[in-house]
Amino acid sequence: MQLSHTSASPLRSTRSPLSGQLPAISGQTALFLDFDGTLADLAPEPDEVRLVSGVIPALLRLSGQLDGALAIVSGRRLADLDGFLSPLQLPLASEHGAQRRDAQGRVLSFAEPDLTEPARGVTEFAAQHDGLRVEIKLAAVALHYRHAPELESLCLRVMQEAADRTPGVELLCGKYVFEIKPANVSKGSAIKAFMREPPFAGRLPLFAGDDTTDEAGFAAVQSLGGEGIKVGEGATVAHHRCTSPSALREWLHAAFGGKSREDGQAPAAAPGARP
Ligand SMILES: [Mg+2]
Repeated sequence: MQLSHTSASPLRSTRSPLSGQLPAISGQTALFLDFDGTLADLAPEPDEVRLVSGVIPALLRLSGQLDGALAIVSGRRLADLDGFLSPLQLPLASEHGAQRRDAQGRVLSFAEPDLTEPARGVTEFAAQHDGLRVEIKLAAVALHYRHAPELESLCLRVMQEAADRTPGVELLCGKYVFEIKPANVSKGSAIKAFMREPPFAGRLPLFAGDDTTDEAGFAAVQSLGGEGIKVGEGATVAHHRCTSPSALREWLHAAFGGKSREDGQAPAAAPGARP
């Protein structure tokens, strides 16, 4: 087991002078977007997340303007993402890159470790404590503790020990979630795979995400000459930051001269960011 680290680059502190001027989305952009906390506001329960009105039409418009070079890159299950985005069927990387649906609609699975034992052990542990929720995915086991933050240290220890006993996995630490996932996939590997294929190949990649799990994606796009956009607070390797999912959505709405849809404001820069 290894604790996931995302880049050899040092993380920038929250107060580092990231650029608040978000990069322009152009006809040569390949756009990659995380889902929770980026496109959609976080909710008390993962199943309660909803996209605000206007996002799906904006994604449809952007996908057309980018000749299809728009993909969602998320830790969620593929079917869950399709449900949230219906009727859109975008290229997707799900479960942190363990599965990917390419622009031709082909679904590729890259890693399916045997998670029988960690799933059983973590489920038993969660049943003994109020406020914990286990999510069993195709290639990952997630333990959500948003409603029991006082159990963070205990949850970390249990998940770390379960990962230690499971070959080929690593532990991811997200927002109120610990997740055992395949060690050989990441959001960065998924983005690089998309970038080798049409219609993404040859374009300049942009990736927006909000969590530590997105750092591999920021490093990937920036290694390819593109830009990472960190949504919200927290240390990051990304070159840009915006304040919130709402600000990110305003940036998407404003692409190609589109109109702002949520509050009539221009895309928001992070406080203290340089112009
Ligand atoms: Mg997220």
